[in-house]
Amino acid sequence: MSGADIIDGKAFAANVRADVGKQVDVLKREHGLVPGLAVVLVGEDPASQVYVRNKGKATVEAGMHSFEHRLPVETTQDALLKLIEELNAAPAVHGILVQLPLPDQISEAAVLAAIDPAKDVDGFHLINVGLLSTGGEGLVPCTPRGCLMMLKDRLGDLTGLRALVVGRSNIVGKPMAQLLLGANCTVTVAHSRTKDLDEECRRADILVAAVGRPRMIKGDWIKPGATVIDVGMNRIDDDRPGAEPGKTRLVGDVDFDEAVRVAGAITPVPGGVGPMTIACLLANTVTAACRAAGIAEPEV
Ligand code: NDP
Repeated sequence: MSGADIIDGKAFAANVRADVGKQVDVLKREHGLVPGLAVVLVGEDPASQVYVRNKGKATVEAGMHSFEHRLPVETTQDALLKLIEELNAAPAVHGILVQLPLPDQISEAAVLAAIDPAKDVDGFHLINVGLLSTGGEGLVPCTPRGCLMMLKDRLGDLTGLRALVVGRSNIVGKPMAQLLLGANCTVTVAHSRTKDLDEECRRADILVAAVGRPRMIKGDWIKPGATVIDVGMNRIDDDRPGAEPGKTRLVGDVDFDEAVRVAGAITPVPGGVGPMTIACLLANTVTAACRAAGIAEPEV
């Protein structure tokens, strides 16, 4: 029997996107400002093409300008850096996102460092990493920002709660831990060398899994009533009874069928954290546009 509330990330993200749309209306009406997001894709990786298409579509749906730059796989680092310089200088562009991964001849670090931190809507520039870890006002990586929004919506004030983040990547785990620390949680970060991970999990009021290992976190590792945010997106063979042979499906890092009996609330995969990432990208673009124009973000 299912005990946990299922956190509907799709519905939550739709609300965030609708709010962004309202903010954009106010910005256009009252300030003549149309936020703009430039997305750069190098090469033809099929998954990246889908991400870039979806980001562009969502940007336009929110009433913002979308600028797509598709470059051939053999693009040199110098050519990409030149484009970033142009986008940094373009007044209509408030957010710049370079879709990762990049081809081998291009250094990701060099490219991320070249983006104007004020336009770095992915929040990966070292200035923004530093601002996040020192409690400053930078731009925050989209996936952790989305996770924090869902946690606050569910739990209200997070002060004093024990939070465990499983995973320490620069994209998810570390910024997630910083955000939870900023929200006054007592934060533990676990990784592949952590001992007794199951025991660490059992202590957590908030468990964020960002590992990339299908269903690694078991139901009996979860503290009864805990809030579980599953960032993992793992494609596996569809093992459900009656599934067509050769079909695949997405599962998280948490064993959902077990965890749902123990947790207080849990995000499903798909339909949990995933949709929030694009919604937060749009929200970050509005934030960047308002800061560039020196105006407060409209309350909606
Ligand atoms: P990384 O591979 O960069 O990091 C994975 C982390 O998990 C590492 O810190 C690693 O530890 C840790 N880890 C690996 N194995 C274990 C283990 N057995 N026990 C404990 N920790 C372990 O992944 P990302 O952070 O980029 O992504 C994590 C997951 O989130 C992936 O499934 C990815 O697809 C998904 N994702 C989903 C997004 C969304 O929009 N929903 C956005 C971004 C990611 P160590 O550092 O010691 O190697």
